[in-house]
Amino acid sequence: MPDDDTHQVFAIKYAHLERRSSENFIGGDAHDVPMPLDYFVWAIRGSSRTYILDTGFSPEMGIKRQREHIRSPGDGLKMIGINPDAIEDVILSHMHYDHSGNHDLFRNARYHLQDREMQYCTGRCMCHEHLRQTFEADDVVAMVRRVFEGRAAFHDGASVLAPGITLHHVGGHSSGLQVVRVKTRRGFVVLASDATHFYANLEQGRPFPVAASMIEVLEGYRVLRDLASSPQHIIPGHDPLVLDRYPAAGPGLEGVVVRLDADPTGG
Ligand SMILES: [Zn+2]
Ligand SMILES: [Zn+2]
Repeated sequence: MPDDDTHQVFAIKYAHLERRSSENFIGGDAHDVPMPLDYFVWAIRGSSRTYILDTGFSPEMGIKRQREHIRSPGDGLKMIGINPDAIEDVILSHMHYDHSGNHDLFRNARYHLQDREMQYCTGRCMCHEHLRQTFEADDVVAMVRRVFEGRAAFHDGASVLAPGITLHHVGGHSSGLQVVRVKTRRGFVVLASDATHFYANLEQGRPFPVAASMIEVLEGYRVLRDLASSPQHIIPGHDPLVLDRYPAAGPGLEGVVVRLDADPTGG
């Protein structure tokens, strides 16, 4: 188990979507080849506490949105010995349906969110169909209820969540999107969530088509590079290559859970 302020970091895959590359870049893609999305939640395990980044969506939401729901994020966490009931802190990168569902999974947790994301998903921007289509009202209402239950913690810009774990507002893809920087045995890993869906969005400077602010998306790529110890320390939010590049978290977990605090191996 790591000590002090270094942490183990895990990506847990819970869903999948077949898609074309032309759908994953603004302005399309001349090659137009298969380029599927994977859906993840992430776990950050320290010597005395475990933090969860994002809560995924439910099987019912998978049917509604026509995504292949593979396993409950809770079941994925149990595969690496994490009991959702014991989690005290959940970070939400942003409020999109694929990051903020499964409301009853972390019953004892406080939820960490940027001020701007709460304002965005409850305010006038949601009057626009184009902007609200990636949100679910039930997820937003669940977050409002947490506020009134005393289970919400708001952040504005950059803040220290715990020794070795900091939160950073990026915006762009969603107005209050935040990324998480984690100190690990190999340096500072940045869990980018949807600040870059794929390695290719970041590496080629070609944004994913969903964006509240394009300038913030593009500036966000620079923020990711500034925060991470190297480009190999940036973890995109939906890229199946993550499962190829990092070692499985244990026997039988290949393609399901990988260790992001380990050096990348293949892919
Ligand atoms: Zn998103
Ligand atoms: Zn997403």
